[in-house]
Amino acid sequence: MPLTSPSYGGIEAGGTKFVCAVGASPGDLRDETRIDTTTPDETLSRCIDFFLAREVDAVGIASFGPLDPDPPSPTFGYITTTPKPGWANVDFAGTIQRALNVPVGFDTDVNGAALGEYRWGAAQGLDTFLYLTVGTGVGGGGLVNGKLMHGLIHPEMGHIRVPQDRAVDPYQGACPYHGNCLEGLTSGVAIEKRWGVPASELPPEHPAWRLEADYLAHALANFACTLSPQRIILGGGVMDQSHLFPMIRERVANLLNGYIQNAAILDRMDEFIAPPGLGNKSGVLGAIALAERASGER
Ligand code: ZN
Repeated sequence: MPLTSPSYGGIEAGGTKFVCAVGASPGDLRDETRIDTTTPDETLSRCIDFFLAREVDAVGIASFGPLDPDPPSPTFGYITTTPKPGWANVDFAGTIQRALNVPVGFDTDVNGAALGEYRWGAAQGLDTFLYLTVGTGVGGGGLVNGKLMHGLIHPEMGHIRVPQDRAVDPYQGACPYHGNCLEGLTSGVAIEKRWGVPASELPPEHPAWRLEADYLAHALANFACTLSPQRIILGGGVMDQSHLFPMIRERVANLLNGYIQNAAILDRMDEFIAPPGLGNKSGVLGAIALAERASGER
């Protein structure tokens, strides 16, 4: 046991803002700052200045993507094909590593949040679970058999297809690649474009929520059948509308129709589909958990 607690840097990198923090756990977050996402040069320089002014033993980056999380790959640590202007093919982890000269962990924002929930939040003690964010975008990550989900690249759960009845919902979808994929139908952007007001301004009785719950429930039922998760954690700005949870749980139970014979689904749906234990800190604490892992401490 070291005499002083370690000092990990975390970067939760989003399309509109970066959150940088130093700490070691939810009870030990010493410093935090927000940086607008502008150009890569400017944004990463500001992150580097923040960490240079504080001593850190390792840095974890939980980033928007798509990105390359595969250490042996020549483009490991890069943001790859993102449509975000200026950010495609940016060596994110390498730039941070060279400037700070400490170990750097790098993964998707949702895998980072999943790791944070595993370490300190709603997924403690589980080995197979999902973390899905429903916000400006939609994405999913998680652990399978105790390992963060990677493969060819990393999961893109926001871009699966769910049934859309155009007689009920004629909206063409907001995804620039697929139109009416899950993200295209359920993101905060999609809600605002479909109804003309931001999600936060739609009252709980608005038909938007029944539609939202129905699409998300189809996705969750598909994930439950595909990955057999022990829990599905739903975070992100849209899920701040907590009345969505009971609507989604009821619809998932209805879609699965008793087929998955396990008490987690049959009797404890309120735990099976749950909000993040770390609230809106999953992302930044997940980045700190990635740093902890990169440092070799865990
Ligand atoms: Zn899509």
